[in-house]
Amino acid sequence: MSDGHDRDLSASLETLLLEQEPLSLARGAAPPLYQTSLFTFDSFGQMREAIESQDDSYLYTRGRNPTVRAFEKKVALLEGAEDACAFASGMGAISAAILSQVEAGDRIVCVRNAYPDAYKLMTGFLPKLGVETVFVDGSDAEAVATALTDDVKLLYLESPTTLLFELQDIAELTKLAKANGVVTLVDNSWATPLGQRPLALGADLVLHSASKYLSGHSDVVAGVVAGSSERVSGLRSLELMVLGGKLSPFDAWLLLRGLRTLPLRLERHRSSAKTVAEFLDTQPAVSTVHYPGLASHPQRSLFDRQLKGGSGLLSFEFSDERLVEPFVDALHHFRLGVSWGGFESLVYPALMSHLTAGEGSATRAFAVPRSLVRLFVGLEDPDDLVSDLAQAIASAHNAVRKGERAMEV
Ligand SMILES: *Cc1c(COP(=O)(O)O)cnc(C)c1O
Repeated sequence: MSDGHDRDLSASLETLLLEQEPLSLARGAAPPLYQTSLFTFDSFGQMREAIESQDDSYLYTRGRNPTVRAFEKKVALLEGAEDACAFASGMGAISAAILSQVEAGDRIVCVRNAYPDAYKLMTGFLPKLGVETVFVDGSDAEAVATALTDDVKLLYLESPTTLLFELQDIAELTKLAKANGVVTLVDNSWATPLGQRPLALGADLVLHSASKYLSGHSDVVAGVVAGSSERVSGLRSLELMVLGGKLSPFDAWLLLRGLRTLPLRLERHRSSAKTVAEFLDTQPAVSTVHYPGLASHPQRSLFDRQLKGGSGLLSFEFSDERLVEPFVDALHHFRLGVSWGGFESLVYPALMSHLTAGEGSATRAFAVPRSLVRLFVGLEDPDDLVSDLAQAIASAHNAVRKGERAMEV
């Protein structure tokens, strides 16, 4: 796909995000949606050329589609990558990216508290193909170095991690991996490319659950992997084509729409989440707040070094597990649900995973505290959100006290 106009390389990412996608037939401000499964040719020669050419030629939407391609190019731009490949979900991106790097007999080193379904892939699925995974504390570089034995092919990072938001020093760990000939992959969903650019820190592949911030409107499930042209074209020609987990053109179109406001949305999520984290930190009922942007966070100096700003997703622990259920039920503005990254505030208690996920789940394996509650801080007025949390904590206390009195009688 030819650009039509050259990019002004001095422009900021915020400006580049708003540039016209180079697809428009009639210079429409918004890009066209190529809702087509296939592309046709005028002649045998033209079709043959399209199939044989290495550049962006369109044949069949499982491999390439102009609307999907525009989304991929925008993500590559944001991540400072040569190319990107989109998938039907974050898990589609994760499984394809991992499968592109390992074969039977290989080992993966993965950080503890990685996304639960990534954990399930590594413990419940990949062993069937002869690929084993070792889980390490990613904040301990020595532990990572020790785990990088000769059979390791992939270092899987997620910084910060799911539910507990532990950071890894990406530059230090990718250096260790490189010295051992190991490929590093980073799940960058929490920070977004505006907050953290793993490829510049030495990672080989970076991926996103685009269902979260990149979409931003709780209406798309999608994933994307970015990296060098060589790695991404390998991923597209094999794992995308044969496993078939492609992104739909309409979802790509929604993602292009969502991406335009990413900087604005992120700014609001960050500032409101900081307000919420600071409020929770003052609450006697709260024993720990897990938010790396908080001044008191043990990894605050790494946060300042590695990230440009925080995120809207954080967690905290109640000192008393009994507060969890009445707290969640008393909230008005935080809706109870999985996922995050949209416009609306959400609450998710780890207890839910403990009660519903099976024996071998990540929540149990990594001993996530039962009193932990995750909050996604949405775009509502932050004062309303803090008031909601305050009344829900008070209400939860009352409910627990009432329960105790009922026990006494
Ligand atoms: C949600 C999520 C995923 C999985 O993405 P889906 O789009 O739901 O498949 C992967 N990693 C992280 C950090 C996530 O939050």
